[in-house]
Amino acid sequence: MSAIGGGDSGPGGDRRLVICHLYPEYLNIYADRGNIAVLSRRAAWRGIAVEVRSIGLGEDVPVGEVDLLYVGGGQDREQALVAPDIAGKADQLRAALADGTVLLAVCGGYQLLGRSYRDQAGAELPGAGILPLHTVAGPRRLIGDVLLDCELDPGDRHTVAGFENHAGRTLLDPGAEPFGRLVAGFGNDGESGFEGCRLGRALGTYLHGPLLPRNPWLADWLLVQALARRETAVPVLAPLADTFEHEAHAVAAQRARDRGGRS
Ligand code: GLN
Repeated sequence: MSAIGGGDSGPGGDRRLVICHLYPEYLNIYADRGNIAVLSRRAAWRGIAVEVRSIGLGEDVPVGEVDLLYVGGGQDREQALVAPDIAGKADQLRAALADGTVLLAVCGGYQLLGRSYRDQAGAELPGAGILPLHTVAGPRRLIGDVLLDCELDPGDRHTVAGFENHAGRTLLDPGAEPFGRLVAGFGNDGESGFEGCRLGRALGTYLHGPLLPRNPWLADWLLVQALARRETAVPVLAPLADTFEHEAHAVAAQRARDRGGRS
């Protein structure tokens, strides 16, 4: 494991977060590491010190130290390289989640947190089995702008805008909770109307772009969940202006709506 960067710390008391990026050298398609930049910067603006570490093949998840785990997207080839390793980390990942660690997994990473991914060549890749789902590649890629309706906390509804590009069709187990409902786009499988999966503080999604720059409320939701691992009171973050972020969201949301509904 190696340190790959950190946020500035300001007048935020002694708040700190440890973010671990799994396989940054393999799973980082569409600038997915931008999500970490957003989390680090938004934390730093609140005076929270952030340490970002990378976890590579054969390296342990620092259970008890990590506040947020991040896994990005990748093509089938990269997924095949990391699949046995992530499957072997299942117990560590499960222990981290039980310890209150937040997880965000995007596209290829999302697929590998489920039980398995059958890739386009027909190979069955093992997953960590953390999220209640499995994925099978279909004949046609599902590509384009996406808009979701999300309600991660009861009564607190938001739209999430992003971009998807995947062959995998992800099937949630019965009773599994999606991340959001599609307003526009294909989502998990092009049919169910669901996108992503949520299991407590773990989120999996197909949305790239990266996801967080144009969905600042979601970045803050993740930060609050991550801070909650160390803090006894419900963590509160100082509000930010987010003028550009809201503009970016509005443009992306409109682009998705212009697709004309689901699919
Ligand atoms: N290889 C996977 C798929 O095509 C994931 C692709 C990605 O991360 N963009 O479904």
